[in-house]
Amino acid sequence: MIISEKLLKLAEEAEEALKEKFRHFDSVSFINTKKVLDAFREERVAEAMFAGSSGYGYDDRGRDTLDRIYARVFNKEAALVRHTLISGTHTLSTGLFGLLRPGDVMLSVTGKPYDTLDEVIGIKDEGKNNGSLKDFGITYKQIELTEDGKIDIEKTVEILKNEKIKVVYIQRSKGYLDRPTLPVCEMNELYKTVKEVSDSYVFIDNCYGEFVEENEPDADVIAGSLIKNPGGGMAETGGYLAGSAKAIELISYRLTSVGIGSEAGCTLNTMKSMYKGFFYAPHTTAQALKTAAVAAYIFDKLGYYTNPKWNDDRYDIIQAIHMGSGDKLCAFCQGIQAGSPVDAYVTPEPWDMPGYSDSVIMAAGTFTQGASIELSADGPMKEPYIAYFQGGLTYESGKVGILSAASQVLDK
Ligand SMILES: *Cc1c(COP(=O)(O)O)cnc(C)c1O
Repeated sequence: MIISEKLLKLAEEAEEALKEKFRHFDSVSFINTKKVLDAFREERVAEAMFAGSSGYGYDDRGRDTLDRIYARVFNKEAALVRHTLISGTHTLSTGLFGLLRPGDVMLSVTGKPYDTLDEVIGIKDEGKNNGSLKDFGITYKQIELTEDGKIDIEKTVEILKNEKIKVVYIQRSKGYLDRPTLPVCEMNELYKTVKEVSDSYVFIDNCYGEFVEENEPDADVIAGSLIKNPGGGMAETGGYLAGSAKAIELISYRLTSVGIGSEAGCTLNTMKSMYKGFFYAPHTTAQALKTAAVAAYIFDKLGYYTNPKWNDDRYDIIQAIHMGSGDKLCAFCQGIQAGSPVDAYVTPEPWDMPGYSDSVIMAAGTFTQGASIELSADGPMKEPYIAYFQGGLTYESGKVGILSAASQVLDK
């Protein structure tokens, strides 16, 4: 791979301009790493916990301790961390089905949720006999963010006062939408307000937000994927849910079975990578933030619209870059792929991925399939051809990936 002198200089310039931002990412990583270590010590983590269990998995100390560690670090009463949660979507779905009953209403206050939840909720279909929330008689409503991209608290309160809402749903990160990601303080304000006027559960899709700020948002449930931030690039699969003891207990009955809940579920050989991943997670998240910020600077200087801007505050690890054409979006993703440690020799092409409404191009030369805490990019093939990318296990490798992407885009 040949990277031009001009691009290398631009990267150097970016690092100089981002000095203060880098210091901030490192300081958040330090604070969160200390929290993780405090939790490990308080929960007396020992090597025997990494051994894993088989069969029913009763009395699995490794599993139970990791649950408590997540709860401590995320400042919640309880948590479930499981390799049997196969993805973020599965984790969110398990949480929603754990809390919602026929006749209940779910209210999203951040507009339409992430694409893969359309079918879980039953937004697209007629509630056909497929087991979606809608099929189970659960009503879904949503309100949009305000013009300036904030939660419409006034409207939320108005609805909560007029109607019984079981779950108030927040998606923290922008996902595939061109909207801002929510800062923790804004979600905390909503949580406080919801609790003042109702007994609704506040449920947060926390994907891509973990460890970006010093604290996770207040909520009855936060949920995410272990092949994103909290797995630290080490966990090979899995998801987590953390929240109030009551909400997590209800969800545990959906996760396994009523009557069993979190007391069983073997861990096989997954524990060490989950512990080690959580240990790395604050640092890995900082690496991803640095990679995103440098990419924003470079592409901004090359004349592309970026969100967030290089000098904006960051609330998740996602960087959106408007490529302006399908060709350039493909070149960007192909450059990311070429700059990856695994499968760097293949050329990604757009395809109709299950669960997504537009054809999508994805680049992921990752050690763990689909792990988006590793440098990866995706973009729906539609105007204005936005490349969403995230991750980078190390800043250095992330930087190589970004420079490779910039080279390929410049060649177009
Ligand atoms: C990744 C993501 C999901 C879904 O996770 P998968 O692991 O892809 O199923 C949901 N919401 C947001 C905001 C995400 O970033």
